Amino acid sequence: MGFLAGKKVLIIGVASKLSIATGIADAMHREGAEIALTYQTEKLKKRVVDFGKKWNSQLILPLDVSDDAQIEAVFEEISKQWGSIDIVVHSVGYAPAHELEGDYVDATTREGFAIAHDISAYSFVALAKYARPLMKEKGGSLLTLTYLGAQQVVPNYNVMGLAKASLEANVRYMANSLGADGIRVNAISAGPIRTLAASGVKNFRKMLNETAKQAPLKRNVTIEEVGNAAAFMCSDLASGISGEILFVDGGFNTTAMHPLDDA
Ligand code: NAD
Repeated sequence: MGFLAGKKVLIIGVASKLSIATGIADAMHREGAEIALTYQTEKLKKRVVDFGKKWNSQLILPLDVSDDAQIEAVFEEISKQWGSIDIVVHSVGYAPAHELEGDYVDATTREGFAIAHDISAYSFVALAKYARPLMKEKGGSLLTLTYLGAQQVVPNYNVMGLAKASLEANVRYMANSLGADGIRVNAISAGPIRTLAASGVKNFRKMLNETAKQAPLKRNVTIEEVGNAAAFMCSDLASGISGEILFVDGGFNTTAMHPLDDA
């Protein structure tokens, strides 16, 4: 029996086989969780429904996280079908493409700033408002995905770095707010992985190369590795962990200098 047997999980963010959310769904399914999925647009629906077959998902719902009515509808349906929920995974991020290249001060616009923060940070607490009543009886776990650019400057990551900083603060404030209800809130800070969202960041391939060179493990991480860490963080095995940002990045964040022999 897997360590998530009997857990009911909502996973938001499956868009392709490369998505981090796909790695998380694979790991959680393997550990026995029952999985509900959402799709952002009608265009993505068929693909997400196809993935859902692999995980035997019975609940696959539309959800654009910028729309409160859609968030409410998703949790209403979950309440109807499941009565309660144990885990919500928020694997969602977005900033307009023009924000993610070039000089930060020049590239950042009022509109891009607002969109990046709304979709990438606010939406996590927006989900928590509806998840809380469905988790109150048994407790639960909320997990989001962040990146080192929240804490240190990464070229071209620009306004997404600010949105992720807001998301990480969100994790701490939400953990404090929801802790008394037995709900844990955490983030995984993943190293760079080639996905649809990541390809929006200019020179992403170079970021992958730099990371692999400098990380203690001398390679990049995979969605399977992030998925395994996510499954653990959301399981009862991690019952003492809340408000935490867990790095799954081959140790890259612990290093301060490029290998000097390559300089
Ligand atoms: P991805 O493109 O596969 O997934 C991004 C998901 O966000 C997609 O499913 C997309 O549909 C969804 N999304 C965007 N706007 C939305 C909206 N308005 N409503 C609902 N869904 C919306 O890319 P990914 O890399 O798997 O990204 C998942 C998360 O991981 C993001 O938060 C990203 O910032 C984070 N992350 C990615 C990396 C990386 O290098 N790939 C590293 C660290 C953190």
